[in-house]
Amino acid sequence: MSEISYSYIVEYIRALHTPPASSVLLEIEKKIAHEIEHWPIIKPEVADFMKVLLSLVKPSQILEIGTAVGYSSILMSDCLDKNGHITTIERFPHMADQAKANIKNAKLQDKITLLEGDAVQLLPTLNDESYDVIFMDCAKGQYIHFLPECKRLLKNGGLLITDNVLHKGTVARSRYLIDRRQRTTHSRLREFLWTITHTPDFTSSVIPIGDGIALSYKTGGNMND
Ligand code: SAH
Ligand code: MG
Repeated sequence: MSEISYSYIVEYIRALHTPPASSVLLEIEKKIAHEIEHWPIIKPEVADFMKVLLSLVKPSQILEIGTAVGYSSILMSDCLDKNGHITTIERFPHMADQAKANIKNAKLQDKITLLEGDAVQLLPTLNDESYDVIFMDCAKGQYIHFLPECKRLLKNGGLLITDNVLHKGTVARSRYLIDRRQRTTHSRLREFLWTITHTPDFTSSVIPIGDGIALSYKTGGNMND
């Protein structure tokens, strides 16, 4: 259970989550709810929040860093503008294989392209200012290193959504209270959050739902120009 909010509030909000229409998404949610699988997918309240957000943005190009089994990709595909497309990156072959099967079962091969490999190598191969939305949901310690690439790849007026930025609430604690092995992630996440909230390139907001998400609007123009 999340340590970001009171657990009774989280439980209440999760009970309001409507089961998805997609049978593939439903199956993934069921396996997680029954603890048959422990895939690290977005929390139900984050899924609902993303759907509202993306319905407002109506993106035509989305980049996702961290596919896992394809849950968030399939969820986001519902909010694409017509002829819209999602590119998603996954480095762990075991996850990528499951994502491919799920994307195929959901008949979304035309809308979702899975790039297999490490984002460190793949992000530099993508073109400048190509995406309306980037969903960054990979290794938390890498967020600060991927930020310049996210800035380069986003259109002006585009939106960077970053998941797990509060790391079970530990980010808000003093580094001296953090387990030694977690201190690097703690300081890199703090550096990431400080940077996105203090750079003129982005207007950002940190939201304590799920495991913490950050919304960063890339300033400098209108999405349509
Ligand atoms: N977005 C998914 C969950 C992603 S979990 C969802 O909500 O449904 C994070 C995934 O990112 C893991 O599968 C992990 O293998 C992958 N990952 C972590 N760092 C990565 C990197 N540098 N490049 C590519 N994939 C990465
Ligand atoms: Mg996540």
